[in-house]
Amino acid sequence: MMKKKKTILYLIVFFSSFFLFCTLSVKIYSQPAGSRKMPDEINALYRAYSQFIDEIKYVNNDWLITVGGVDLYWAGGRLLPPDKKPYENEYRSYGFYKYPDKLPEIVKEADARMLERISRFTSSRRNLVRDNTFLEILYGGQTRREIQQRLTTINFLGYRVQVHESIADRYRVIDREIRAAASKNPEVAEFLSSLGSVATFMWREIEESRSRSYHSFGIAVDLNPRQLGNKQIYWKWTSVYNEKWYTVPYSQRWMVHPEVVRIFEKYGFIWGGKWLPFDNMHFEYRPEILIFSGREVRNP
Ligand SMILES: [Zn+2]
Repeated sequence: MMKKKKTILYLIVFFSSFFLFCTLSVKIYSQPAGSRKMPDEINALYRAYSQFIDEIKYVNNDWLITVGGVDLYWAGGRLLPPDKKPYENEYRSYGFYKYPDKLPEIVKEADARMLERISRFTSSRRNLVRDNTFLEILYGGQTRREIQQRLTTINFLGYRVQVHESIADRYRVIDREIRAAASKNPEVAEFLSSLGSVATFMWREIEESRSRSYHSFGIAVDLNPRQLGNKQIYWKWTSVYNEKWYTVPYSQRWMVHPEVVRIFEKYGFIWGGKWLPFDNMHFEYRPEILIFSGREVRNP
């Protein structure tokens, strides 16, 4: 009896190894690097930052992207230098997702999938750090001082703010188009006059997370209302007293006028008001996300 069990076990091991061998062989021999399809995410990165990207090739079972002379492995969206690649599970992805065109529907009750998504998001935020090498290359600095040297002061929606020089023209055209919209649409004008401050560059980590914020590179902007009233604006603040913060309807959230959102998106900024963990004051320059979502990003 024992012998028969052992034979079956051997057979299982033998066949599994054979299958594994076949699968590996197929990967190695039938798909040489040149014919491998590049993931859409990498394609979007290339289209968004082509002036920085020297080469993209498939080596060591991963995509290797050379950005400004520096090698970064794709590593499932983590964009890691070769020395960090073996520890990829300790890092969080840059986050590639389909950014919705319209406002996503708010659910009254979260299903299991959504709860899973929320818990994955909060735990990865708390426990994993995003490697900043890619952003440091794009925006030319690793320290506060280095980034500060790349900032320029502009007038934006009536406020003097510091932004990264490489996208200053984007901010300028967004400013122009929002003002033009306000001159035609009284609702947009009313939205603009309801603002109390505009905040751009801040050297900081994302609250309760281990990643440096896009504000630290001068590529994010917060539009803050003068008076919030009893509206909700940031999931984290709402979550303090409402564990179902994601069910708060749009009518109870402080909203940016849709025409303003459109103009930001047209030039490569995404709005935190469309995120499940909503951050309605926040915009950040992520042309790759818009391109990945099938949107056109205009240059100023
Ligand atoms: Zn922000």
